[in-house]
Parts: sequence; structure tokens; C-alpha cells
Amino acid sequence: MKLSIIIPCKNEEGSITILYKKLNEVLKDIKYEAIFIDDGSNDKTMEKLRKLYEDDMQHVKVLSFSRNFMKEAAMLAGLEYATGEYTCFIDADLQQNPKYLVEMYEFLENNKEYDEVAMVMENKNHKGIMSLGKNAFYKLMNKMCDVKLENAASDFRMFRSNVKDAMISLSEKTRFTKGIFAWVGFNVKYLPYEVEPRTSGSSNFGFINSFKYAMVGILSFSNKPLKWSINLGITSLLGAFIYFIVLLVQILAFGLKMKAVYALILLMLVLFGTQFILLGIVGSYIANINTEVRNRPVYIVKEKIGFNEKGIL
Ligand code: UDP
Ligand code: MG
Repeated sequence: MKLSIIIPCKNEEGSITILYKKLNEVLKDIKYEAIFIDDGSNDKTMEKLRKLYEDDMQHVKVLSFSRNFMKEAAMLAGLEYATGEYTCFIDADLQQNPKYLVEMYEFLENNKEYDEVAMVMENKNHKGIMSLGKNAFYKLMNKMCDVKLENAASDFRMFRSNVKDAMISLSEKTRFTKGIFAWVGFNVKYLPYEVEPRTSGSSNFGFINSFKYAMVGILSFSNKPLKWSINLGITSLLGAFIYFIVLLVQILAFGLKMKAVYALILLMLVLFGTQFILLGIVGSYIANINTEVRNRPVYIVKEKIGFNEKGIL
């Protein structure tokens, strides 16, 4: 097998058949497998995938999860089941045009010194708050994390099996693939691509979900919030101490009893607030450790279609 294409699908009944046709069109000279991962869809995605498999058993493989485990889990499953010399990720919604797969493939074929090609969004199809959110996300991530994320570099990448093996070897349960790509290193070539509008359905990543995803990234690849907690704690303690002295002087000198009570209440609220934020930060890291220690599988496969007996799990 030359190329494995990993396609996470959550409620993509309107896109997958078109995507499959496009893949087949652009990859006709390449020996490839398209691994569709049905991530707990509740529309007709599975029905469509079964039909695709019946029509083209040579190229189509399907993994169906027992429920929605999120895109990151689907990506890991794809990596674990991929058998190609090259592996790539592509979204099912046609926002990433399959024509770029040929470009990435040819680049890897002709440039042996590179291990990976990553497509970087040229235009951004997100408007207003989402675009602001995504830019802020990259800035924040790069400031905070030990790994450097290429601005607007997507998961739309193709890589050799050494990269695939390295990605699988990171056994963390809470996965943040963009960070994992950066962490494993290798020689990466960045190429520009145009993001296209979604063909059907709606994005699974609203502002809140993107924010949560950013938090996963920061918790997985940075310990800075913990260190900042200490600084914040020291600063607020110092501030409180200075204010206490000022209050004491005021009370002793002018006898401002009532004002002092209000001020104390305010001071306590500020300190409690800070404490709870710090606790929250520490708690988030502990929650992450908890998830890792529980060691539950990242996903559960309900059904495998098109994999031979040697297929893992
Ligand atoms: N996806 C998935 N599981 C999820 C959410 C999304 O497998 O829980 C898939 C989705 O079907 C699509 C890809 O991940 O193929 C990207 O999702 P989406 O288009 O919703 O994200 P966006 O492009 O808006 O970032
Ligand atoms: Mg999309």
C-alpha cells in the first residue's frame, strides 16, 4: 500500500460520496486506501459508507466507533490502522480539496530529505469572532507552549511512516494532534492551500469547542499556567499586605471604621477569586493526570469493514 488517507466523519452524509469520487479521480495512478472513521454519526453517514465499500472494496475501509469520541480519537484510530508508506489526514467536508493530496504526494516522492508536508491555510474562511479566536489561539499557544505551532498550519498533512510511528508512540489519552506534530519534529515542508466552504452540514467546532480545544492544547504542551499561578499568588499576597498596612494606618490615624469594613470585604473577594482561579488551573492539570492514569482506550470500535484479520485490535 502506497498511501493511506484518514478521513474522520461526524454527520457527513452529504459530503462523503462526493469526497470519495474526487479522491478516486485525483488518485487514479496511486495505490491507496481510504480509511473512513465514523465517529458516532447520527445521520446516514454509516449507510453511505457501507454503500461505498460495497461499490469499491479495493479502496474503501471503514471503522465505526461505538459513540462520538471526537476528531482527535478518530485521527489516532486512522493512524493505528493505516498500512501505507505515506499517510495523510483529510476532512470529510471538502473544505480541504483532494487535489492537494497529489501535490503533497509528489513532493514526498521527489524530496526524500523531507518526512512530512503540511498545508497552511492561505485564506481563512472564518468570519468575525471565529477568525479572531483562531488567531488569538495560535498567538497564545506559541507564547505558552514548549512546542511551536506554525500559524494556520492544519492537520491536512501527508507524512512518511516514520512520522506515523512517532505519532502513535505518544500514548497520551487527551490528544492534541497539532501539538504532537510539532513535538515529534522531523523535516516538514509547509505549502499554502485555500480552504473551501463546507459543502453540507455545519461545522462541529463552534467558538466554545475551539476554546476548549485550545485549553486541551495548552494543558498538554505547557506547564506555564502552573508557574504563572505562583507569580500571581505572590503578587496578590504582596498587594494584599501593602493594602493592609495602608488600611491600618488609615484606621489608626483617621478612625475610618465603616470604610475599612467595605475595603476588607473587597480585598477578601479579590483574594478568594484569585485562589479559585489558581485552584482551577491546578485542578485542570490534575484532571489531565487523572485521565492518563485511568488509562481508558481513546476510542472503541464497534464495527470494522474492509480490514483483513491481521488488522489490529
Ligand atoms: N469530526 C469528527 N468528530 C467530531 C467532530 C468532527 O470526526 O466529533 C470530523 C468532521 O466530520 C470533519 C472534520 O472532523 O471531517 C473537521 O470537522 P469540522 O469540519 O466540523 O471542523 P472545522 O472544519 O469547522 O474546523
Ligand atoms: Mg470543516
